[in-house]
Amino acid sequence: MNEIRDMLIIGSGPAGLGCALYAARAGIDALVVEKNPLPGGQIVNTTEVDNYLGLPGIGGFEMGDTFRRHAEKMGAEFAEDEISSVRAEDGIYIVSGAKAEYKTKTVVFAMGAHRSKLGIPGEEEFTGRGVSYCATCDGAFFRNKDTVVIGGGDVAVEDAVYLAGLCSHVTLVHRRDELRAAKSVQDALFAKENVTVAWNSIPDEVTGDGVVKSLNIHNKETGEKSEVPASGVFIAVGMKPDSDLAEGVCDLDEKGYIIAGEDCRTSAPGVYAVGDVRTKTLRQVITAVADGACAVTSAEAYLREH
Ligand code: NAP
Repeated sequence: MNEIRDMLIIGSGPAGLGCALYAARAGIDALVVEKNPLPGGQIVNTTEVDNYLGLPGIGGFEMGDTFRRHAEKMGAEFAEDEISSVRAEDGIYIVSGAKAEYKTKTVVFAMGAHRSKLGIPGEEEFTGRGVSYCATCDGAFFRNKDTVVIGGGDVAVEDAVYLAGLCSHVTLVHRRDELRAAKSVQDALFAKENVTVAWNSIPDEVTGDGVVKSLNIHNKETGEKSEVPASGVFIAVGMKPDSDLAEGVCDLDEKGYIIAGEDCRTSAPGVYAVGDVRTKTLRQVITAVADGACAVTSAEAYLREH
């Protein structure tokens, strides 16, 4: 492709779509490249979102779809492709995908993040056979069965609340004696009668025979070991940024997040990072969407100068 775009946005989660909407309205010739035609990024795996202003209780899938349709209506352009590299050449960027090569004056990294692995024995062996990283995707397989959720953040506690509505019993295994999750989610958890929290508990091994049978844990205060019987083990111990494409293009921090401030500028000229892939304190849909707007404002100034 010889055409040089103003902007190439990699990723179509809330941050990429927010960026696409603002770019379209600003008259910037932008293309959103998405690996997966299912819009919305991580949000599609969320049953209900209650903290996005003006859309109380909206389903994650519906939210992604609504964002996508809004961006499309404003004139955003999309291409389905998997990008393998980004490189600077003669003042522009060459972005290579499986289907095409794109030339662009600015690049917006909006690849998001994915769930971290625990790295305990049995985790990999039983992934897809009882071990899962997505309660809303896989929870229905464990209807009326016992499950375990590992973690103490928003995702773990939301997962435990969701599973409590489907499963006979849910054990939340957390390594400390207090949860990191928002108070509103904690209140929902403690209101569930079929949830037990194993405090100060370290997961040691997922055991089973073809499928998951239990999770072995130990209490870090007493050293006491125990076996929690479960058909499903849901792991929700944080996120890892999907920043591989940015390596060598701009600076990343020690955890792999692209270093960028509120203006979403990275260390490379004309390269922006938005949403969960960038360094920030609050990774939520509302802050991801806001990043899209900020990146376009920064890029407009860059495009005017170049
Ligand atoms: P998170 O907030 O980083 O929580 C990760 C949890 O896993 C923590 O409780 C942590 O324990 C635990 N953990 C980490 N490594 C572990 C290990 N090796 N063994 C055992 N436990 C381990 O991550 P998250 O829950 O995935 O959420 C990611 C981001 O998305 C957060 O910023 C969150 O606020 C946001 N989010 C927001 C919403 C919402 O607003 N509705 C919904 C979902 C997610 P410690 O607490 O001891 O560190």
